Amino acid sequence: MSILPVLIAPDPRLKLKSKPVKNVNELERKLIEDMLETMYIEPGIGLAAPQVGHNSRIIVIDISDNKEDRQPYRIVNPIITWVSEDDNISEEGCLSLPQQYAEVVRPRAIKVNYIDQNNVRQSLEADGLLATCLQHEIDHLEGILFVDHISALKRNMILRKLIKSKRGQN
Ligand code: ZN
Repeated sequence: MSILPVLIAPDPRLKLKSKPVKNVNELERKLIEDMLETMYIEPGIGLAAPQVGHNSRIIVIDISDNKEDRQPYRIVNPIITWVSEDDNISEEGCLSLPQQYAEVVRPRAIKVNYIDQNNVRQSLEADGLLATCLQHEIDHLEGILFVDHISALKRNMILRKLIKSKRGQN
C-alpha cells in the first residue's frame, strides 16, 4: 500500500464531477486500500478519490476512534436514495482544507446504495456523524466542498487562508 498526496483547495481538480466506476477491478481495489492508508495516516475519517487526483466515484470512510477495531467502509458509485426531513448542524473539516472548520447544515439521516470492493450491491442507513461524513464525501464526487455550503463571506475567508499557506510553502 502507498500513501497518496492529497490535493489542497483551491484546486480545479477538486471541482470536477467524478465518473462512475464500471467494474471494480484490481486497479480500483488498490486505489481503495491506498486511500484508506492515506486517510488513517493523515488522519481523517473520510476521503474521496478526487482528493487524491482520481476522477472516480469512490469514497472511503471510517468513523471508529479505536485503531485496534477499525471499521472501514469501501464505497463505490454511492447514490443517496433517501434523506430525513430534519437537519443536523455539525462542524466539518476536510483533508483538502487543512485546519479549516465550519458548521454545515445537512439532513440528519440518509440511505445510500453503492457497490463494495467486490462489486456487491450494498445499502446503508446512517445518521449522526456517519450520515454527515457520507454526505461530505459524496459531495466531493460532485466537485462540492463543505465550504460551498456556507456563506460566501466565510468561504472566501477560508480559501484566502489556504492560498496564503500554499504560498508560504513555495
Ligand atoms: Zn473533504
